[in-house]
Order: sequence, then structure tokens, then C-alpha cells
Amino acid sequence: MQEIRATEYIELYHQGEFAQAKRHISQNPCPLCKGLGFHAFRDAKGYEKASACRCEGIDQKIKCFNQAHIPVRYLNARFEDFRPMALSAQEALIKTENFAWSFTMGSKGLLFFGGYGTGKTYLSICALKVLTLQRGIPAKFIEFAHLLSELKAQFQTDQSEQHMDKYVQIPCLVIDELGGTHLSDWGTRVLDELITKRYNASQTTIFTTNFDPRSKNKHLPNHLSEKIGARLYSRLQQMCDTVALFGPDYRNQSEELKG
Ligand SMILES: [Zn+2]
Repeated sequence: MQEIRATEYIELYHQGEFAQAKRHISQNPCPLCKGLGFHAFRDAKGYEKASACRCEGIDQKIKCFNQAHIPVRYLNARFEDFRPMALSAQEALIKTENFAWSFTMGSKGLLFFGGYGTGKTYLSICALKVLTLQRGIPAKFIEFAHLLSELKAQFQTDQSEQHMDKYVQIPCLVIDELGGTHLSDWGTRVLDELITKRYNASQTTIFTTNFDPRSKNKHLPNHLSEKIGARLYSRLQQMCDTVALFGPDYRNQSEELKG
């Protein structure tokens, strides 16, 4: 089991297909408050008071991380380890880090686009890790193809509405590789419904795609609107700031930076 300490209190480890977090053994229970979560003291007038311990909120952060479904291969992904090889990557790093630390309810999302292996998924995961592990904000990662197949399976058992709610209610959702799979009419309709519901609920969505959302571009296969339809494309433009990522394929350097 590979372990690294994500924070003073939390360590990360491999389990199954998703990265997991738990309290660091030396912090369980917290040595500062003996697990109480607060420190009792007397104020100047002699009244008993309590102040929150530094460990407060740790369990919430661990819970958020464990529900984020971050693929195991991104266990160690961190903004600090992202090495921008091009100006666009440097700008993308700054933009994504700002997004993660300044995120509030209703924040505009991000639409990452660029060639294969330029770090789109990596940066979006780094943002999720800040949101969950550092800030205790619920967030989730899902590949676009998996999202569609999951919703389809549920739809076939007549629970589509209810099942979609799980994805509507999450404050920050990363949909990875948008347009990477063929969209049927059904797929387009379901995706449109989910995105519209999230938009109306002021939830934030991050997308990554290999398809250029701006214009025809010789470096990228197709314009995004051709892949997801004009209506959805226009909604994405309203919901997200675009983040361009071009440069060398990071997969040549490290398997983990793939995406
Ligand atoms: Zn404590």
C-alpha cells in the first residue's frame, strides 16, 4: 500500500479503482484535543469557553475525498508537481489553482480543452483534491462515457430521474473526456437535462475535452459543438471559463500525468 500524507492529518492510499483517504495513524485520535475536536479554556472573567481544534472538519474532508471517485492513478496528483511545458499550461495551472481556492457556491466552471496527454484531467483532479481534502467541499469525478452508461442502466430500470439527482446535487462535478464517445439522441437529451439541471441549481461543472470549443483548429480533431450539439455547446459557454492546454504529451514523461 502506497501512502502519502495529504495534510498533517490525512493520508491517502490505494484501494480498488479509487483513491482513498483516512486519518493519519498518529492523529487518530488527535493528540492536541484527544479526539474531542475542541479545547476548553476559561476566559478572563472565569467563564468556561471552547475553541475549535485544528483537527476540526477532518472527517468531513475525508468523507468528501472518499466520495469523489478519484481514479487511483491520480492518487499523488498535486498542483505543486505539475510541470508546465508551454505558456498555455502555465496559465492553465494558475487559473485552475485560483478556481480551487476561491470556489464558492455558484462559481463558474472550467472547460479544459487541448490535445491528448496535455494535463487536462490531471489539473481537474488537482482542483478536486483541494476542494475535498483542503476545503471539505463535496465534489465528484466521472468519465463522460461512464456517466452515460450509468444513467442509461438506471434509466432502463426506471430510476433515471432519481439517479440523476445524485449528479445534480454535487457542488462541483468533473465530467472527463466530453465528446469522447458517440452521443446518441438519447445521450444528448440526458446530458442536456443533467447540465441544465446543474445550471439551474447553480452548481459548478468542470469539463475536459479533446475537441476545440473555439473554432476549427488544425491541432484538434473536431469542433466541440459538432460533438455535443449547438444547444449544449452554448450552455457550456455560459457555465464555464475555457482553459486551453497545449504542449507536449505528458504521458511520455509520467503515466500519472496522462489526460
Ligand atoms: Zn484535535
